[in-house]
Amino acid sequence: MAGQIMDFNGIVMMQKNYRERDLLVKFFTMEAGKRMFFIRGAKKRGFKMTADLLPFTYGTYVGDLRDPGLSYINAVKETAHFQNISEDIEKNAYATYIMSLLDRAIPDNELLGSWYNRLYHGLLAIDQGLDAGIVANIFEVQLLELFGVAPNLRNCVICGRTDLPFDYSESYGGLLCQNHWHMDPNRLKLDQRTIFYLRQFSAVDLTKLSSIKVHPETKHHLRLALDMIYSDTVGVYPRSKRFIDQMNKWSDKLPHPTDDKN
Ligand SMILES: [Zn+2]
Repeated sequence: MAGQIMDFNGIVMMQKNYRERDLLVKFFTMEAGKRMFFIRGAKKRGFKMTADLLPFTYGTYVGDLRDPGLSYINAVKETAHFQNISEDIEKNAYATYIMSLLDRAIPDNELLGSWYNRLYHGLLAIDQGLDAGIVANIFEVQLLELFGVAPNLRNCVICGRTDLPFDYSESYGGLLCQNHWHMDPNRLKLDQRTIFYLRQFSAVDLTKLSSIKVHPETKHHLRLALDMIYSDTVGVYPRSKRFIDQMNKWSDKLPHPTDDKN
């Protein structure tokens, strides 16, 4: 297919050096899925689009979109930047992780559908101060479907009941009510709060997030549960997630402010 010159809405995912003076910049685009752009002369002094191509920038661009092959950007119409994400190491880590999950879940050049807006609003929520770890959890739950897991989090996968305590079964791909716990000895043995949030996260509209408050202990349980589900049934572990795990280990080891009596 030949190139098509068009306006497009994009969110910059990442950039990498290419040859001496050029850059490759990967975008999530609303109109054409994930695209890799070749930016000639991006590292020359006086290059005009530097700020428009930084990670966590979004806006409207004019480009020559090619499939297959690299695409080109002809002009920038209007851009803005998720400033707080860029400046905060934790927000940055979770935002990067969300983008790398979405990158793995959807092949290049395939339309993103509702995921473009979900990504934009999820990043906006993190930028505006919502709990980045929880926003990432919501993406993890909702992305399971794209990874081919699509767990049933509505009701018991065996009998359909919704009024008994639930647990999560990886082998049955969803919830088991208490009457059917015996069917999976390897069920995850999650507490009811964790189950409650997993169910909420699967249904919440990412474009309408306003506030989320989750108790720290439940946050920890959600992290463990989703780590298990991802490692056992998805098998995707991006480098950005490795960094988050390291970061959480360091912060566990730091002395707690209230421990310091001096
Ligand atoms: Zn049941």
